[in-house]
Amino acid sequence: MLDWIEHELAALEADGLRRRVTARAGAQSARIVVDGRDCLNFGSNDYLALAADPRLAEAAIGTIRREGIGSGASPLISGRGETHRCLEQRLAKFEGTEAALLFPSGYAANLAAVTALAGPGDVVFSDAKNHASIWDGCRLSRADVRAYRHADWQQLGSLLDRSQNYRRRLIVTDTLFSMDGDLAPLVELADLAKHHQAMLAIDEAHATGVFGDTGRGLAERLGVEDCVTARIGTLSKALGCAGGFVSGSRALIDLLVNRARSYIYSTAAPAAIAAAALQAIEIVAAEPHRRHELLARAGALREELAVQGWSLGRSASQIVQVVIGDSKRAVELASCLKQQGIFVPAIRPPTVPAGEACLRISLTWGHTEEMLSQLITALRTLHPA
Ligand SMILES: *Cc1c(COP(=O)(O)O)cnc(C)c1O
Repeated sequence: MLDWIEHELAALEADGLRRRVTARAGAQSARIVVDGRDCLNFGSNDYLALAADPRLAEAAIGTIRREGIGSGASPLISGRGETHRCLEQRLAKFEGTEAALLFPSGYAANLAAVTALAGPGDVVFSDAKNHASIWDGCRLSRADVRAYRHADWQQLGSLLDRSQNYRRRLIVTDTLFSMDGDLAPLVELADLAKHHQAMLAIDEAHATGVFGDTGRGLAERLGVEDCVTARIGTLSKALGCAGGFVSGSRALIDLLVNRARSYIYSTAAPAAIAAAALQAIEIVAAEPHRRHELLARAGALREELAVQGWSLGRSASQIVQVVIGDSKRAVELASCLKQQGIFVPAIRPPTVPAGEACLRISLTWGHTEEMLSQLITALRTLHPA
């Protein structure tokens, strides 16, 4: 009766789509050991190299000594402690919003934001390349959902023109797209939101800590923060911890507390994580050179690879997408790099659309010039198709 499971797996294998879990040995950093091999690591979201920063670890350890590890309950029962409260206040200050709310993951934060802002009788406009957690939020919301072509604000405009019969309209987008490394047209989206009286929710998961004068993200850089109804962020990427948050008006946050099932029915993250995240936010404020140097090195890497003839799509950030197309070819290239001690993940469907397999090079502040040269040299020997 369960033969179908083996058949499904065999079909994935035949298409070059079967995934296997691996386990890293040791800390997350610019070098890691994968499958027993010491590698340069271009496969993490630890953009500011904070995941293994001793200051975060110390903050967490101190809290664990005082409070132990488990939070013991969902936040509305007794799981939310003083440290969580401090972090929420600090996040609101960091984001320049009235309030912020913590979630066990960015995934949960997105489910919460979308389902709180839209329901039956409403319509959600979602970029075709939005993160899976946004799409899951759309489905759970039971609102009508319209996908617009990636970054195509003109198409979005014409969809909005035909949306006047809905009770409420919500535009939702990643700001920095996780697989392509490109940026959402936020200025245009903000104009459309104003013009059509639509709400705008933005997911800054990969941009928090990296973009903007103070590291708040792309909306800060582009000066459109006032047009944003809800900002979703994660503590698990540039901030080097775990968990997610939504920031916005006091009323929005109060609504989430009352409505968001991924908040209400999930245990609060350990206070130690919140303590580490507090420390990470202080580092983002005190050490802006991390984000500046990261983006400068990413720009230089993109230039080098373009000269070599690789297609980089619309990459414009610390995530550099090398477009390959064929899944098997992408896996082959990744395994050649791995043999040379360079870990770059091959990204395949369903994470990207069929025929759009790629190598995803993600840079962190921990990568030295020398490490980048090693990557550039290795790619030079692996001619673009
Ligand atoms: C990673 C990611 C999330 C989920 O965040 P987690 O904290 O890892 O659950 C949400 N949105 C985007 C765009 C992401 O890349």
